[in-house]
Amino acid sequence: MVSRVIPVEDFDLVVFGGTGDLARRKILPGLYRRFLAGQMTAECRIIGAARGELSDDDFRAMIAEAIAEFVPAERQDAEAIAGFLARLRYVAIDAKGDGGWGELKALMRRDVVCAFYFSVAPSLFGDIALRLKQFGIADDNARIVVEKPFGRDLASAKALNATLAQHFHESQIYRIDHYLGKETVQNLMAVRFANILFEPLWKSEYIDHVQITVAETVGVEGRGAYYDKSGAMRDMVQNHMMQLLCLIAMEPPYHFDPDAVRDEKLKVIRALDPVLPQDIVRGQYLAGNGQGGYVEHSENPQSRTESYVALKAHISNWRWKGTPFYLRTGKRLRARASEIAITFREPPHSIFDDATGWRENVLVIRLQPDEGMNMMVMIKEPGPGGMRLTQVPLDMTFADALGPEAEDVPDAYERLIMDVIRGNQTLFMRGDEVEAAWAWTDPIIAGWESRGDKPQGYDSGSSGPEDALMLMHRDGRRWRDIR
Ligand code: NAD
Repeated sequence: MVSRVIPVEDFDLVVFGGTGDLARRKILPGLYRRFLAGQMTAECRIIGAARGELSDDDFRAMIAEAIAEFVPAERQDAEAIAGFLARLRYVAIDAKGDGGWGELKALMRRDVVCAFYFSVAPSLFGDIALRLKQFGIADDNARIVVEKPFGRDLASAKALNATLAQHFHESQIYRIDHYLGKETVQNLMAVRFANILFEPLWKSEYIDHVQITVAETVGVEGRGAYYDKSGAMRDMVQNHMMQLLCLIAMEPPYHFDPDAVRDEKLKVIRALDPVLPQDIVRGQYLAGNGQGGYVEHSENPQSRTESYVALKAHISNWRWKGTPFYLRTGKRLRARASEIAITFREPPHSIFDDATGWRENVLVIRLQPDEGMNMMVMIKEPGPGGMRLTQVPLDMTFADALGPEAEDVPDAYERLIMDVIRGNQTLFMRGDEVEAAWAWTDPIIAGWESRGDKPQGYDSGSSGPEDALMLMHRDGRRWRDIR
């Protein structure tokens, strides 16, 4: 298979917070990989803008170190690294003051795509947006990219949207949810909408339930102060898991077009029923496996912040009435695994006398590790001795089917940044989507707070709180093993 890397237009990309953790771990190494893949023009430029007086060469040295640390050795090509570093510039800037903005303006070209990545705390978004306009740096063609968290509730998300809207049109705003940049997540859309096979079955008549799991083995080490104000509901469910749920549940858009796709996702969020208190479990990890418990990383020893959430969601529309969506996410769990599993119903009648071995069809979409898709189907167990059934996976993992070229797929950040340069908003959250997601999440969090609910403890390295198992058991179902 021949790889089809289509170069993007010439651009100037300013990374506010270019010396920060996210920029060094993901954004700049990702840009280097796109450069290596031949996707950038020879003239494109990446301008780091942050607090701290650095020369261009200091910044280049910092990013050279980041590439050495965060790019796999087989992708480290000395000539390409030198070429990439030559594209970098640096401006010391004060988001809240006037320092550095004139210099940035002088540096920017007028005749290329101009994009501004806000890789800084959300409290600075408004200051930066204002100054980009005040100093005449960003015009109506400029694009801005903003990171999560996008608000901590509906009110703050609305305020943030309103602030950005004072300076930029919605078509210029790219709200990143890196889950949407994952190859498999997009493959889910291809599988759903490019095949006749799945869509007729894609409804409650044929689908028993859906499970969405994002399990992590790490805790909140070093991020306790940030996480304590957030928790799993805000950090994972409101954004990443809601986005995955939308892609599974949405109606076919009329076209693979940014607003057509986002309109359909929005309809799903609006059709979600409020979650009943008995349909949600929150947990907090305890010490175990030789590691400390959550409260040891928190500044508050009485912290009630949840590091785990499991819930049952219902979508009230014709397609999904009667098919629950079970979501769970947590830290310090037994294994690191993110997957979506769509479990189909039993055939209406079995023609086999001996149906031992029968199991449901399950479409498993694995996001990490080992991105891929598997359709679990029943076949005859090979050999003599009558008709016995066994379940086998129909492997739709693109890396196996498409050969070595598929192993070099861009990671989520790389793809999403290139989409910004191309001006394609399909995989970015629109303001109304984010607000609708908070409108669904807020009452859940408010309920916990008003009732003074405490999260249930679970051992580090376990599969989560007991009550989360019960959430499924009482419906006669079980969570898939996380491995
Ligand atoms: P960080 O603290 O490591 O870096 C912050 C950057 O902002 C630095 O470059 C700093 O110089 C710059 N900065 C701070 N105050 C400034 C000011 N007044 N003027 C100009 N520049 C200023 O933060 P980070 O971890 O890189 O996170 C950046 C953003 O991305 C945050 O909103 C965070 O929530 C979000 N995010 C981070 C991650 C991650 O893995 N680090 C993941 C998802 C989202």
